[in-house]
Amino acid sequence: MIIFLYIFLTGLILGSFYNVVGLRVPLKMSIMHPRSACPYCKHVLSPLELIPVLSYVFQGGKCRSCKAPISPLYPGMELMTGLLFAISPLILGWTEELLVSWSLISLFVIIFITDIKYMVIPDKILLFFALNFLLERIFIPLNPWWDSIIGAASGLGIMLFISVASKGGMGGGDVKLFGLLGFVMGIKLVLLSMFLSTLFGTVIGLLLMAAGRVKKGKPIPFGPFIFLGTLTAYFFGQNILAWYFRLLL
Ligand SMILES: [Zn+2]
Repeated sequence: MIIFLYIFLTGLILGSFYNVVGLRVPLKMSIMHPRSACPYCKHVLSPLELIPVLSYVFQGGKCRSCKAPISPLYPGMELMTGLLFAISPLILGWTEELLVSWSLISLFVIIFITDIKYMVIPDKILLFFALNFLLERIFIPLNPWWDSIIGAASGLGIMLFISVASKGGMGGGDVKLFGLLGFVMGIKLVLLSMFLSTLFGTVIGLLLMAAGRVKKGKPIPFGPFIFLGTLTAYFFGQNILAWYFRLLL
């Protein structure tokens, strides 16, 4: 129980850091300086105002100085990071693979922010995580290890094909991202994650359109759906595939 609470709190704190990374890296700002401030009145946040989630709750979702509303996106991402971090060992068990899952969650939280705020997946972020996953997969390889190579090649290849066929309808960031995801998950799960991301994107996109929340033809950020599709594939892919093949046979 205590260890789960500890992992959850670590996730909350990291989530708060990922908010800063996601907001600043696309603007080519340093992630250390200046200290976080209210975007409206430039009031520099005190340590008390930097406590993840709680500061948002106690300030009623407003800046303590100018009362401008703070987007619920930020405490939401902190909470999501904490919860996903704590859920991982429940699904995967206490294995080394937990490190990979926490890295994957971290990558997605950061991309979620950059994609929602700026509609980009920065190369700098992808490069950082590429090095990180390379190290992790050297020490915690897929079985067989070359599944990483085939996965990366198919992730990159298929997305490149879609990107060219759709004449840039799919961004270059997404192409590189799926190359990276293929490296982490191997060919079967990266294919499943593409399928699920598209499925979730289509269903939720149509629902939002029907509800009048987005206009037809206006691009919606794909990052959140890749987040959902990939984590579903990563955590439950083996079960989903087993279930699917049982249906077929
Ligand atoms: Zn303010």
